[in-house]
Amino acid sequence: MHTDLVAALDIGGTKIAGALVDGGGRILLRAQRPTPAHEDGESVMRTVEDVLGRLTVSPLWEHAMAVGIGSAGPVDASAGTVSPVNVPGWRDFPLVERVHRAVGGRPVTLVGDGVAMTAAEHWQGAARGHDNALCLVVSTGVGGGLVLDGRLHPGPTGNAGHIGHISVDLDGDPCPCGSRGCVERIASGPNIARRALEQGWRPGPDGDATAAAVAAAARAGDPVAVASFRRAAQALAAGIAATATLVEIDIAVVGGGVAGAGDVLFTPLRRALREYATLSFAQRLQVAPALTGTDAGLVGAAAATALGGRPGEAAAYVV
Ligand SMILES: [Zn+2]
Repeated sequence: MHTDLVAALDIGGTKIAGALVDGGGRILLRAQRPTPAHEDGESVMRTVEDVLGRLTVSPLWEHAMAVGIGSAGPVDASAGTVSPVNVPGWRDFPLVERVHRAVGGRPVTLVGDGVAMTAAEHWQGAARGHDNALCLVVSTGVGGGLVLDGRLHPGPTGNAGHIGHISVDLDGDPCPCGSRGCVERIASGPNIARRALEQGWRPGPDGDATAAAVAAAARAGDPVAVASFRRAAQALAAGIAATATLVEIDIAVVGGGVAGAGDVLFTPLRRALREYATLSFAQRLQVAPALTGTDAGLVGAAAATALGGRPGEAAAYVV
């Protein structure tokens, strides 16, 4: 009955999630643990093994043919290593080899979390049926991934489409990546909140100073909150327009917590895109909210494994 299951791992700075996913993208079994992000690398790996252990004890496990990992980046899929910014204990950590050993030698595929989300959106979400798409995750950071000519395009190391570190403000603020004026430095949730606070916005009685609170204030008409989202939308639009101009995407799918702001983000984003995506072939570009939600990382990691082969072959699974 379950002949083609894939084990998926979604590894982030907050949680490590695992699942058994069937050929229709349904999650049949799941496990999750908080990431011990500030402990040493072996402790983090033990948490991964604990999550995998919850899957391997299931009678379904014998049907799991391959393992797909979507991890916070940077990742290096060619070396099988990860160095997530928010998990300091892992630097060039040989995650593929360690997971390979933990699952009895099944094939393991690694992609960045933005690429995983893109695979999920192309398989089951808003990018379905689009041969050329950019998917963005706007959250604590800004990540992304590309579908080109109908296939997931992870790039040699699994990081292609990392739109958060395109510079859109040449003399802008220094970014933790070493560059300046990056999309992420302007459009991530923490930076939307930081800019609103700097410009005089103040949280309500509950003290919530997150981007979600700024979004609520913007919806209520607070001009500083509106301006902070408009600035984020401009940065995203400039990055999306650059991508459309380079590789002719026809849709940009925007997910992540900040996309939950809805029209507060999407209305100025569509307006700014009309200003930046001006060439004839970029003008038809659509913008859509992501559809795959909180399971995008798991479903996308499963999609990226596809045939248990290289990430570039993943589109074979995206039908
Ligand atoms: Zn940067």
